[in-house]
Amino acid sequence: MRRGSYCYLTDEEWERRIARFEAIARSCTLCPRNCHVDRFSDERGYCDAPGELVVSSIFPHHGEEPPLSGTGGSGTIFFTHCTLQCCFCQNWQISHEAEGQRFTPEELAEKMVGLQKQGCHNINLVTATHFIPWLLRALQLAAKKGLFLPLVYNCGGYEHASTIALLAGIIDIYLPDMKYGDNRAAQLLSRTANYRSFNRTSLREMFRQVGALITDDDGVARRGLCVRHLVLPDDLAKSEAILDFLTSVFDPADICISLMAQYRPLYHAADFPEINRMVTVQEYETVKKAFIDAGFPGFYQKFDALDKSFVIDFTTRKEEALTPPSAPGSLNSSQDSLSEGEPETTTLLSPDWKEVG
Ligand code: SF4
Repeated sequence: MRRGSYCYLTDEEWERRIARFEAIARSCTLCPRNCHVDRFSDERGYCDAPGELVVSSIFPHHGEEPPLSGTGGSGTIFFTHCTLQCCFCQNWQISHEAEGQRFTPEELAEKMVGLQKQGCHNINLVTATHFIPWLLRALQLAAKKGLFLPLVYNCGGYEHASTIALLAGIIDIYLPDMKYGDNRAAQLLSRTANYRSFNRTSLREMFRQVGALITDDDGVARRGLCVRHLVLPDDLAKSEAILDFLTSVFDPADICISLMAQYRPLYHAADFPEINRMVTVQEYETVKKAFIDAGFPGFYQKFDALDKSFVIDFTTRKEEALTPPSAPGSLNSSQDSLSEGEPETTTLLSPDWKEVG
């Protein structure tokens, strides 16, 4: 198995990177909010993250894109807090309500090695930007303990390109969102008036580092970029503008798209009439056709295979694996009993993907 890039960093290089990130966090500009708070004095910025790691859940995830989940699952670590805090966040318990517990770097390193021992294909770092200095210390320790799996940087796409540049040679797979094609909805729903430009420049840096997504003989991702886009009701995400950007900058054949239909009006979505409903089949299929016609390979959620209980309850889901869809007790075996109406919270996430290209 190909080893993660970070396995080849010297101790001196780890220390140099960590020192750089610690300096950034002392007047915090880890993300484009640029709060300039001293995270090492426990001052809190927009994300409200403290000066130590806080993690909600750690488990082998079988519901990520097929090259990430493979057969052994993606070793997923959900970090608490978020630099975006979208009003409709599907993970609102951890992004808005700080569900989670504190970990030392040593403790998190043990958990990473544990995921590797369970047979996971990668370590999937979900929304980690506000904890990078502490996370890198955990990764350094984990590497010393034998961690070699590739690292997935799974983020909301609101990043400083300079922060991403400092992760070069550490991260093998970038999995950023492209949430909004313009800033109007970004400001309305995520209080982020400059999302578009930071999203685009950071995405260019990610691609510069890792290139197109490549998989091994078993179809498991080893390195590269995969762009996630969640279709929103009423085209609020401005999906076509995202498509236009990607086609104008990249060869579509190089960009793996993960197109998601799973939007649910959760958390404070009810405060915004435009998004207080699910996406329609027509809305989703229109965006999907545009991406496929433009030549983007990737993974497209099957709209008719999605049920209404597509949300993780982070207060109960902690370390147990998300069951593969075919296993006994999975969602597929129980969804017949789910009632119509409001989305329910479940302990299983098992999307159905159609691979294109
Ligand atoms: S990581 Fe948090 S404190 Fe730092 S700039 Fe971003 S929102 Fe502000």
